[in-house]
Amino acid sequence: MRRLRLRVRGQVQGVGFRPHVWRLAMRDSLTGFALNDRDGVLLEVQGDVGAFVEDLVTLAPPLARIDAVEQEPRPVVAHERRFVIRDSAPTGPARAAIAPDVATCPDCLAELFDPANRRYLHPFIACTQCGPRFTVTRRLPYDRPTTAMADFPLCSACAAEYADPMDRRFHAETTCCPACGPRLDMALPEIAARIRAGQIVALKGLGGFHLVCDARDDAAVQCLRARKHRDGKPFAVMVPNLATARRMADVDATAAAALQHRARPIVIVPMRAETRLARGVSNGLPDVGLFLPYTPLHWLVLWALLGRPAGHAWTSAGSDTALVATSANRSGEPIVIDGTGARGHLAGVADAVVDHDRAIVTRADDSVMRVVAGAPAFVRRARGFTPAPISLAREMPAVVALGAQLKATVTVIRGREAFVSQHVGDLDTPAAVAFLEATLRHMLAVLDVAPVAVACDLHPDFPSTRLAHRLGLPVFPVQHHHAHTAALAAEHGVDGPMLGLSLDGFGLGPDGTAWGGELLRVDGARCERLGHLAPLPAPGGDRAAREPWRMAAAALHRLGRADEIDRRFAAEPLARAVRRLLASGIACQPTTSAGRLFDAAAGLLGICNRQDFEGEAAMRLEALAAAASVMPGGWQIRHGVLDLLPLLGLLADGVAPAEGAALFHGTLIAAVTEWAARAAAANGLRVVALGGGGFLNRVLAEGLAAGLATHGLTALVARAVPPNDGGLSLGQAFVAASALSGTQAQEGMTSCVSQSR
Ligand SMILES: [Zn+2]
Ligand SMILES: [Zn+2]
Ligand SMILES: [Zn+2]
Repeated sequence: MRRLRLRVRGQVQGVGFRPHVWRLAMRDSLTGFALNDRDGVLLEVQGDVGAFVEDLVTLAPPLARIDAVEQEPRPVVAHERRFVIRDSAPTGPARAAIAPDVATCPDCLAELFDPANRRYLHPFIACTQCGPRFTVTRRLPYDRPTTAMADFPLCSACAAEYADPMDRRFHAETTCCPACGPRLDMALPEIAARIRAGQIVALKGLGGFHLVCDARDDAAVQCLRARKHRDGKPFAVMVPNLATARRMADVDATAAAALQHRARPIVIVPMRAETRLARGVSNGLPDVGLFLPYTPLHWLVLWALLGRPAGHAWTSAGSDTALVATSANRSGEPIVIDGTGARGHLAGVADAVVDHDRAIVTRADDSVMRVVAGAPAFVRRARGFTPAPISLAREMPAVVALGAQLKATVTVIRGREAFVSQHVGDLDTPAAVAFLEATLRHMLAVLDVAPVAVACDLHPDFPSTRLAHRLGLPVFPVQHHHAHTAALAAEHGVDGPMLGLSLDGFGLGPDGTAWGGELLRVDGARCERLGHLAPLPAPGGDRAAREPWRMAAAALHRLGRADEIDRRFAAEPLARAVRRLLASGIACQPTTSAGRLFDAAAGLLGICNRQDFEGEAAMRLEALAAAASVMPGGWQIRHGVLDLLPLLGLLADGVAPAEGAALFHGTLIAAVTEWAARAAAANGLRVVALGGGGFLNRVLAEGLAAGLATHGLTALVARAVPPNDGGLSLGQAFVAASALSGTQAQEGMTSCVSQSR
């Protein structure tokens, strides 16, 4: 007979952990108690406790994430007869975490379509293994009164399940039923009829509204595109199950696992030639973003569209049913989360709004993934993954970071954990900036962190930088590509120097010029620029980033072939003006951006002269590169500067687009591999961190990882956060926290210096 006190840390609240403890205690005839507190779960067990301690971890429920179990012997309590679950004890600072939202579980799905179940067709069915979490939680500890379900008192039947430790809904904080739960404001047959009729319906989801229409209906998809003013960017598509996904696209085992992950991210996969999807869904790009239903309402809408089939077979059988489901927002603004906003902002976009009375507390877009180098990588990390923390190699000071301008996120470091917020988005509108600030405040409140410093981008004019300076904390501006590569050091626990390879769009350098294709020596808070891509002039500044033909003109200018600009870009009214700009050097800031190099190649090959959305030219170029081939002599490396001018010259010579795309990728891979390998050897480094938006390009990321491996180098690939600017705040926070915990603490320090030669 022994008594043990056990402290369990990690993701152990709202995941069915206490019932798990209770069942084990019953099995082994133990006495004692368990309770939720702000550190996680605290329990004491008495009796023959050997098997209990082992099974506590090995048999933990699927949603639990156990970071640590601490044991302490306690004196045996005489005459204890039972094991009890005690009420939560919300004292002391919070160390526990809110769980991410989870897709409807198989048990709930079975009940949803069982006519004998009391939750038959109930759009809010949930249990301890599924349902909303992050998006409905106001604060910790996670209990019904602190969630959006506080407005829905449990009926007696639900209350009995909630109180029964043997029930799947024991302390399921978001459980409810048709008698006591929220209500949908439109009947399913009407929703289905509207979609069948080609209408666009705004449908309330977990983290915001979707705009939904029939993905096979060309007219409906074109109408949505026109009304949303979304000229070229592909739409995501919801399909009922994997079998249906495989009719639409080539879904390999890795992509299938990602699609079926309980977070249900959008997964970008190659579309099949015989797909039934309307052409307007992906607008000529070969890939499509698919996802599987993750709320009971999604399941019910699909069921209604399929003609209300009996039984459960349809939930896994292939069909042709597919719905466009894209974030409902006004251009540049955050996703809409309430019915009033939906009716106001989406007037003229949606034909109908389907709302319900369970509030969305925290906005979260769908997460987006793509299989890169054999495993899923984030394109956008949000619903289903936030706010799960990223484990750091060691304890670090409490620092917050605010990202840059595009794809902004917030990171908060608490101890050995880094919490990266959901995708906030581009900070182009006051509403988006307000969302960034609200996200910061919510995270600090929920995590109960008092930050000692704030990190931001080196660019003084980004709204995130201005917000950082308003917080009244020491400010650490971090160079953009230092942050990109430091994010990999944080994720992979790198302690010590590494080579940072950034292939990215734009980030301000400490020298005041536009950086983007960089080779850095990164060691925590220290960063040294070892090399960069040969600069190209960017005629017209920001316009050059939207109009690849301008970068192509810049390449022609560098090649000494400026006389070809007028003829090649005759369709561009400003072609002659841009040629003169290049000749004079006025409004032609040089940039080492890898993104602009892709633009130049796409422009020279005639693949994309103007981009409808960020990264479009690079995406179209990648899409054409079926294979990668190398142009011998296509590059030069001098004093750390990689110049691909010979390659650009070849692309300007009338090469066919597909051949040119293959040459561009293959030569870039060979060139960058040699460039990085030389720098690694010269600096005695073995690890190369691949950071920046360019590494979502599969051909490039896979080619470089393989190429670096042949030189005995280890390539670090971003898996926990996106390699693009969505992961930047993690790197910024890591740099500032490293500075504070080292001897280099200095407010206002410039985080990246150029190597003097
Ligand atoms: Zn469930
Ligand atoms: Zn009920
Ligand atoms: Zn970037």
